[in-house]
Amino acid sequence: MKKVISLLLVVALMLGLAACTPTVETPAGGEAPAAKKIVGISMPTKSSSRWISDGENMVKEFEKLGYEANLQFAENVVQDQLSQIENMITKGVSVLVIAAIDGETLTDVLQKAKDANIPVIAYDRLIKKSAYVDYYATFDNFKVGVQQASYIENALGLKEGKGPFNIELFGGSPDDNNAYFFYDGAMSVLQPYIDGGKLVVKSGQMGMDKVSTLRWDGATAQARMDNLLSANYTSAKVDAVLSPYDGISIGIISSLKGVGYGTPTQPMPIVTGQDAELPSVKSILAGEQTQTVFKDTRELAKKAVAMADAVLNGKQAEVNDTKTYNNGVKVVPSYLLEPVSVDINSWESILVGSGYYTKDQITK
Ligand code: BGC
Repeated sequence: MKKVISLLLVVALMLGLAACTPTVETPAGGEAPAAKKIVGISMPTKSSSRWISDGENMVKEFEKLGYEANLQFAENVVQDQLSQIENMITKGVSVLVIAAIDGETLTDVLQKAKDANIPVIAYDRLIKKSAYVDYYATFDNFKVGVQQASYIENALGLKEGKGPFNIELFGGSPDDNNAYFFYDGAMSVLQPYIDGGKLVVKSGQMGMDKVSTLRWDGATAQARMDNLLSANYTSAKVDAVLSPYDGISIGIISSLKGVGYGTPTQPMPIVTGQDAELPSVKSILAGEQTQTVFKDTRELAKKAVAMADAVLNGKQAEVNDTKTYNNGVKVVPSYLLEPVSVDINSWESILVGSGYYTKDQITK
């Protein structure tokens, strides 16, 4: 009798277990469920926080749509970026999103992407010399330069005829297409004042061939500023410095501090910037850097992801510019987002108000 009861118990247990086990749906044909599509995201460097945010924001957006992301940073070494992209191609990613270190070095690797039928989205920086760039997501880069220079124009009262003032000019990396757009945008505002004598570039250094900063490096900018100051400003003072990027502004500001700027008798010149990186926003609050340009990387990530998703689904992506970005082989259809100028009066409403930073991140 005991044996019969235990046998009944075992049977009952087995039946119960079977009832609890979830059934696995096997698709018709008995194959395993489709694996997630993998997207390759290649970012230039972790040394500037904007690219970290760009990368992380894209991963989030891709995951929301059901993709898996392979995110890599190349620490500003071109060869590393190329190898990382080649690896992604070998691993069979479905699409590549690339912010190039040097926009002219990707021709061969994009040929490989093309051969493997992998579409490519240029992220923030135009990829040049290749037909195989499907779309470009960026900001209105010319406008960034206009905003930096207009800030200088207003702060110095140039429109009201004030001057002459001394200014020095810095450009971004000569291998980054954006650097020329920033510089040209800025010069569209500044050149008339230089021609009219209200702005004086005492060093005489003008034009991207003279003012660029390889790889956007702050230390390189600092060294150049040291030279400019010692060669031209031992008795004169500099009133404004056009800087295209926060990391460069930081270098320029340390150089200025080194020769005594930043005191009540020798105030800091106007120093512009770009990216609203935390150290620079803090510097604005401390009265050192004067301005930066905020580019909401959350929005850019969304745009790039939408482009990639459209291409993968055989659809047209939304663009708002089909004229500006000629990469030497074709005009790449682009979406340009709006940059926003930020200073001591607007940081809170723009940067905290948009939820990009918390107030504590900036003030503590
Ligand atoms: C980006 C800027 C950035 C710079 C340096 C440019 O291509 O558009 O936002 O400041 O690279 O990283």
